[in-house]
Amino acid sequence: MMEFESILLPGVDAKRPLIIAGPCSAETEEQVMDTARKLAARGIKIFRAGVWKPRTKPGGFEGNGVMALPWLKRVKTELGMYTAVEVATAAHVREALSYDVDMLWIGARTTANPFAVQEVADALEGMDIPVLIKNPVNPDLDLWIGAVERIYNAGIRRIGVIHRGFSSFDKKIYRNLPQWHIPIELHRQLPTLPIICDPSHIGGKRELIASLCQQAMDLNFDGLIVESHCNPEKAWSDASQQVTPEVLDFILNTLVIRDTTQSTESLASLRRQIDELDNSLLELLARRMRVSREIGQYKKEHNMPILQSQRYDEIIQNRVAQALQMGMDTEFMKTVLVAIHEESVRNQQEIMKQD
Ligand code: PEP
Ligand code: MN
Repeated sequence: MMEFESILLPGVDAKRPLIIAGPCSAETEEQVMDTARKLAARGIKIFRAGVWKPRTKPGGFEGNGVMALPWLKRVKTELGMYTAVEVATAAHVREALSYDVDMLWIGARTTANPFAVQEVADALEGMDIPVLIKNPVNPDLDLWIGAVERIYNAGIRRIGVIHRGFSSFDKKIYRNLPQWHIPIELHRQLPTLPIICDPSHIGGKRELIASLCQQAMDLNFDGLIVESHCNPEKAWSDASQQVTPEVLDFILNTLVIRDTTQSTESLASLRRQIDELDNSLLELLARRMRVSREIGQYKKEHNMPILQSQRYDEIIQNRVAQALQMGMDTEFMKTVLVAIHEESVRNQQEIMKQD
């Protein structure tokens, strides 16, 4: 069982939430200093800024690289903040450390690649620096834990994880689906590992940040990493999801940190899991109805009757047997299946009626 240190950086308040803030990217020295000054004035202790930016498509702003590291050094020496950057290669680690960066994080695209994580881990061997590991872009908890193990095996004990949501093909409300049950399960497996929420990359829109921060606090997350920029609309990357230091301050001040007892805390987290599961159920049902309507279209074009009773019997029998094996009641399953089937038939009848 891996055991982790609970204090990631000395002198930063131990009470929840730990706050890391700063722009998606270090764009210019002025932008870095202006943003950092405003954040420091509002009590933010840890400044984030991307220096090497993995962009989904070429042509996006890929960061200023080493050139930006002296700016972060200024943030540290002039404003007394800790600095944090994303690293994806051994060279990044070396360069960041040579400018006394205080904290490193591994980005979502890097976590998804064990070769890259191992390269970073090897470069960290023998170092003592806190490392935050973002979840991989895909919802694969073992891959995430695997990355934690690689960094742990390099001897690093100040490790935290960042939940930044998971990519999905159909983007709806969120840029990256929260799938809260995944970090909740991670916490169950590794209870001493600090978990930080990244509402900026989950939401993709600044309007969602406040509620995501609150949700993370209600789920007992340890901290928040929020993208904050002195002029968010003009940001060179992730412009729509960044907030000014003033807005960040407002969001943090309105957060309700519930000092709940263990039992209500776990009740909240269980309820969150139920919400998440119901959501998945609804999405699955909607998908099933769409497929069923396509079948209706096919039957119409081929002059087939809607009700194929042999197929219907098979479905009921197989599913009920399967449900029983999964520990569910057969009568309950029949009720659900009959209701779903009735609605499918009604949908197909609608299609038949259309001309
Ligand atoms: C970032 O933090 O700016 C970033 C690139 O995030 P992610 O790796 O979560 O996409
Ligand atoms: Mn970003």
